[in-house]
Amino acid sequence: MRQGIDVELREVGLRDGLQNVDTFFPTVAKIEWLKAEAAAGVPEIEACSFVPPKLLPQFTDCLEVLAEALAIEGCEISALIPNLKGAERGIAAGVPVLNYVTSVSETHNMNNVRRAPAESVEDFARVVELVQSQPEGKRPRLAAGLATAFGCTLEGPIDPKAVVKLAELFVAAGCDEMSIADTVGYANPAQIKSVTKMVLDAIPSDMPLALHLHDTRGLGLANMAAGLEVGITRFDACLAGLGGCPWAPGASGNVIMEDAAFMLEAMGLRTGIDLDALVKVREIVEINLPDKALGGAFAQAGAPKGFRPASQLPAAAE
Ligand code: ZN
Repeated sequence: MRQGIDVELREVGLRDGLQNVDTFFPTVAKIEWLKAEAAAGVPEIEACSFVPPKLLPQFTDCLEVLAEALAIEGCEISALIPNLKGAERGIAAGVPVLNYVTSVSETHNMNNVRRAPAESVEDFARVVELVQSQPEGKRPRLAAGLATAFGCTLEGPIDPKAVVKLAELFVAAGCDEMSIADTVGYANPAQIKSVTKMVLDAIPSDMPLALHLHDTRGLGLANMAAGLEVGITRFDACLAGLGGCPWAPGASGNVIMEDAAFMLEAMGLRTGIDLDALVKVREIVEINLPDKALGGAFAQAGAPKGFRPASQLPAAAE
């Protein structure tokens, strides 16, 4: 965790948000978005996906975007990889964090990458091997993302034991960090607490664990608060709540970055994010996706009178 930050928010709009948008978001605008959000203090941004461009044409400009993103100081850049081939591309591009995503739901994973979850872990083990064969200083950190961990549009409820089992397999295969995802917005706060606790108990105590939450049914922030209660301090979020999953019908909306940052700052938890600067970044999305309704209660209502964000309060002794 970076000094002076209590909770780390990672912007996933350029990946999760845009992968569900048919309109091609211009490369220069993607770069503008990245730079503006990094300047607003967002500590980590997932910049793109290495899913084959013929499946997701939105990411044909991945390398151009990454070249600019990796030059930004003070913001960690990550990218999604669906398989070994994606890892090869990610390593060649010099991305410091690669997120390998697998669904806990067997059916969802079959639809997504045409493999059973356990087979995905075997593929991931080959990714680990590939990373370890790289010269020192060129080895990205590998994050395992457990999608549909709280429910699946194709299978319905997901057994928490299956989540734990997959988490253990990824740890054994050599992941450096992990995230568990409510890909289609099925989770409730009680479930977030119980499943997250089970995963925390199953993985090494020093392994970073993040939550990736969707606001499909309006429980995104409540779920984030539940995650905080069990000790999670890393969350994915998306500017204006863009996002979804092309393989999960009905899935929409990541937890909204502006609202998440406001909630955390209001709770006295420093995100390092300048809320006014963050809200301004919405203009870039508005201009380039004129037909898309942007979500965001904080952007609509503004700050309450007398509001002082935690990041602007005198620093407490660290
Ligand atoms: Zn997502």
